Amino acid sequence: FELCKKVPKVELHAHLNGSLSEKTLTTLDVPQHLLEGYQIINNLAVTTPEKLNECFKLFKIAHDATASVNSIYVATKHVIEEFYKDNVIYLELRTTPRQESNMTKEEYIAAVVRAIEESKDFITVKLILSIDRRHSMEVSKNALNIILEMHEMYPDIIKGIDLCGDPSQGTFHENLFIEARNSGLKITLHCGEIKNDQEVLQMLKFKPDRIGHGTCIHPNYEGSDELWKLYKSSSIPTECCLTSNVLCGTTSTYSKHHTREWLQDELPFCINTDDKGVFNTSASEELLHAIENLNLPKTFLIDHSLSAIEYAFASEKEKMKIKEFLMDWKKQNQG
Ligand code: 5GP
Repeated sequence: FELCKKVPKVELHAHLNGSLSEKTLTTLDVPQHLLEGYQIINNLAVTTPEKLNECFKLFKIAHDATASVNSIYVATKHVIEEFYKDNVIYLELRTTPRQESNMTKEEYIAAVVRAIEESKDFITVKLILSIDRRHSMEVSKNALNIILEMHEMYPDIIKGIDLCGDPSQGTFHENLFIEARNSGLKITLHCGEIKNDQEVLQMLKFKPDRIGHGTCIHPNYEGSDELWKLYKSSSIPTECCLTSNVLCGTTSTYSKHHTREWLQDELPFCINTDDKGVFNTSASEELLHAIENLNLPKTFLIDHSLSAIEYAFASEKEKMKIKEFLMDWKKQNQG
């Protein structure tokens, strides 16, 4: 574990509100009885058949705690600091802009951006703004307009757009993502978390820059030969989230995680936390699970950071600088 902790890491799939630790929620005055509910996640793997749906209910606790400009700002600062303390040197946070009684979506985004800007001396953080698949076309179109406006204001920080939300509900409004792509945003889509071959096919044909999870693409995991063939020819990197999948029940165990198929076929992937608060994990712990359960050598750790940075949404110049740092670290720590 010490080596997993020590290695400089790259995290590309972290939902802001899902990343709030218990400590952060306490700082934000979440009452103790709700925090106990938050911890239910630790028992879900054994108790609940509809685990994924249960997980989604937990986000409400974090959302209620970050319903003002100041609280979302404080929460973002905490999350960044915790990733930094875990030796994450490059972080892509993603969040769904939210309107609350005393906060507009623009103010929400600006507060997150402010926290990111204030961290730039010790960690590189980029922002991906999410569209929730449960939202109607009209609501999503309105969110996209705001995202594009904010992207113009903060082009160095807001780099991408994501499709997230409960995969058993809602839909992929492809035309909105075409518009986002044409406006210069990178695209990542939560794809195939549950079986939905038609949607996975639509998403793969759309050719996003990355996909999240990709659980049900390979035929061994409820996908199909056709989907897997298409995915293999696409070179789209997959953001894998081991603990999240195990706790949500979309994967039975760490050692049976579908990342195995990516390793076997030498396909691009990276290991991520997803929601480090809800799933009580960290970037270091996710790497440890990968090493221990997928038969990977220790050299995988730094090589993982080196490949993950290739898939990042930062500028080529920024990526090069981080790559050089990682190469230096590798040289100094060989053996
Ligand atoms: P937020 O966007 O509010 O910062 O982070 C929490 C939100 O991220 C959740 O409400 C949910 O929409 C999304 N999210 C978090 N984890 C997952 C996941 O594993 N799968 C999907 N599809 N969405 C997720």
